[in-house]
Amino acid sequence: MGAIEQQNNLVGIVGAGAMGRGIAQVVSLSGCTVKLFDVNKKASEDAIAFIAQMFSRLEEKGRINANEHQEGIRRLRVVNKIEALDNCDVIIESVTENYLVKKDIFNKLDSIVSKDTILTSNTSSISITKIATNSSYPGRVAGFHFFNPVPLMELVEVVSGLRTETWVIEKLIKLAQGIGKVPIHVRDSPGFVANQIGRGYVVEAANLYNEGVASFSTIDKVMREAADFKMGPFQLMDLTGLNVSHPATQQIYDQSFHEPRFRPSSLMRDRAEAGLMGKKLSNGFYGEPTGEEKNYFNSQDLKYDNRPVWVNPSSNADYQGIRKIFELLGATFDNGERPSANSLIIVAPLGSDATTFSHEEKLDLRRTIAIDTLFSLKKRRTVMGTITTDVKYLKSCVGLLSRDNVPVSVIQDSAGFIVQRILSMIINIACSIAESGSASPKDIDEVARLGLGYPFGPLKFGDQIGAGRILQILEAIFKLTGDPRYRPTMWLRRRALSGLSLLYQSN
Ligand code: NAD
Repeated sequence: MGAIEQQNNLVGIVGAGAMGRGIAQVVSLSGCTVKLFDVNKKASEDAIAFIAQMFSRLEEKGRINANEHQEGIRRLRVVNKIEALDNCDVIIESVTENYLVKKDIFNKLDSIVSKDTILTSNTSSISITKIATNSSYPGRVAGFHFFNPVPLMELVEVVSGLRTETWVIEKLIKLAQGIGKVPIHVRDSPGFVANQIGRGYVVEAANLYNEGVASFSTIDKVMREAADFKMGPFQLMDLTGLNVSHPATQQIYDQSFHEPRFRPSSLMRDRAEAGLMGKKLSNGFYGEPTGEEKNYFNSQDLKYDNRPVWVNPSSNADYQGIRKIFELLGATFDNGERPSANSLIIVAPLGSDATTFSHEEKLDLRRTIAIDTLFSLKKRRTVMGTITTDVKYLKSCVGLLSRDNVPVSVIQDSAGFIVQRILSMIINIACSIAESGSASPKDIDEVARLGLGYPFGPLKFGDQIGAGRILQILEAIFKLTGDPRYRPTMWLRRRALSGLSLLYQSN
């Protein structure tokens, strides 16, 4: 959209909370005139004061000049009645995430706006198709989903409901581009694209904690350091607040008729009900001693006792690769076909737990330790014993693996460690979105990268790890747990079996 066209837009924003004020800031700065309405007059006034402060900061930093600052403020108007939005070209509803509140607003807008006005909602998880039923103009209703904090996050999901007309989406895409955002068109589905994928990250982490696999901080460290995520899932929940994350999960689960992949976590529900929302660190996961990593061993005890290391050749991961790491760390090897009496037994299962895998391989469970080799092992290593691994062997193994000062996380026996389980869940959800056609594979990846800050889009991540390995992980977890949450999508299965990229779209 050219500058002149952008300036011609009069945008009405309903709701001046955390999101509404951010949207007002970027929209007015882009050249549009903004009318801001909130039932709570103080919320609008606070928003204007907040935006003025933001503009001053941007000017100090040289990001905008004095004229842009003044013009930005001049274009912002607070209105005290929703009726004052009558002449707007586009309305962005960004009130509290409550269907009945939104329904009432869309009902009211019906008799206020002209028949050309585009009506949008910034809802995170309510169906756009359902919101549109409250308007006599459902063809002009769309989702316009910004991310928090609005001025910093580039992505806007432009959501078409079942009856949204094409010109509406085209105009919203131009408007978003004019604001300096990256619009991605997605079809209405529970939680759209970003929030569906995001469920995989936080809920699977909460499940791992609930199963006693590891502490909050261990799960966070492993995801940050082994898999390169910017923020651990518990840090993210503390930042977003469980008052937002848990209801969003519940909404997506309910709207998808209880799809097991979106099943909410009792940990998140209980903490939200107890008021431990996490927005302030004092009552988040990190406000409690349980957030700290358990100190399993005294570091002086962690010494490799030179016992021979026997690497299971039928480990699902790369046998030579594992041997290479142990060789670099100075291990002595047991090269026998079967492990000799005192050897340390190393296995590297995909999707399986140490106990089941060792049992199937007929190995001595007391001497077996599993290592996660899905990633390079350069920044953090994750190991787990079977339920009967002798602590002497575990200490020797951790001593050996930390010889080059790379930290080692010792977790409880788990199907798929931490990274395998969380990543395969995210990738499988991305595959289910691709399967549904709600967004193109390329756009799904772009949404995750821009909206969730993931190092790669999940489909590309899956390609890098190998679709076959992701399939193997999910099949193993599904078989072990019997939980349909882990059943692989057909999108994943077919591409893995055909040796195709997860981004491949058949004609
Ligand atoms: P918020 O609680 O900070 O602000 C909501 C505002 O809406 C309040 O100022 C309230 O006074 C106002 N309001 C309530 N009822 C109203 C009505 N009938 N008419 C006019 N104003 C009314 O909420 P928020 O975090 O800004 O979220 C707003 C919307 O944005 C929600 O739909 C939410 O799902 C969505 N969203 C939130 C985030 C986020 O991270 N906070 C991210 C993306 C989308």
